Amino acid sequence: MSTFQSRTSGPLRLDDDALNACVACGLCLPHCPTYRVTGKEIASPRGRIAAMRAVELSGAPVDDVFRAAMEECVECRGCEAACPSGVQFGHLMESTRAALPPPRSLGRRVGEWIAFSVVLPRHWLLVALTRILAVGQKLRLVPARFGLPAISLRPLGLPSGGSPDAWLFTGCVMDAWMRDTHRNAARLMRATGARVAVAGSKADCCGALHVHAGRAEQAARLARRCLAAMPGDAPIVVDSAGCGAWLQEHSDRVVDFA
Ligand code: SF4
Ligand code: SF4
Repeated sequence: MSTFQSRTSGPLRLDDDALNACVACGLCLPHCPTYRVTGKEIASPRGRIAAMRAVELSGAPVDDVFRAAMEECVECRGCEAACPSGVQFGHLMESTRAALPPPRSLGRRVGEWIAFSVVLPRHWLLVALTRILAVGQKLRLVPARFGLPAISLRPLGLPSGGSPDAWLFTGCVMDAWMRDTHRNAARLMRATGARVAVAGSKADCCGALHVHAGRAEQAARLARRCLAAMPGDAPIVVDSAGCGAWLQEHSDRVVDFA
């Protein structure tokens, strides 16, 4: 969990130490996917921290440019692993997103409500919608420009529950859209001789997407629910970077495999 000791008095209420720990060395930049794609400083961890500082310490406005810079971060936390100063970027970003005012667009607010409160907490609904999407892909009705992965809904074939040597956490969107990644992770885990199981229906959405959207309370509830569905001492292997980083905050059994 967060180790925040003191918070700034600006509108984002960020952890003072975390905000000041960045020495702007830039070593994180090559590890940031949004910086690699755009090449823009504002889309890098260093640039985002500078923007947070400007808002917190210099009274810069929380405008559309600031919002976009924060929301385009995919919260993979690749920058944390690369940072020699130990900047807790994930915490900074979670606090920032929680402090952002609601989006102005009604369409977006409705879309977010449907996604976070209707679809993601109901995995059966996400899978049903994904089946429709998969049929659309087969009929070539889904334009390639959407950039969606080729969907495989073939079951993983792993046992559910019991007392395995290791759990494979399958999640929500990953289970619906990226099942082949789980299949490969399970193959690797089983090659070590481990008995691998999945948790079943109570360990779907872990709340990582919610916390990335500033919905911290809902996110924590979902994380606790998922972890309770994988009892015992066995490690919980997570092959999605955002979910792994989030669940690691709630249990030291979580192994981020991404
Ligand atoms: S976040 Fe860390 S690695 Fe990145 S610029 Fe700041 S101190 Fe350097
Ligand atoms: S969390 Fe990932 S996307 Fe966000 S700034 Fe860090 S490396 Fe970039």
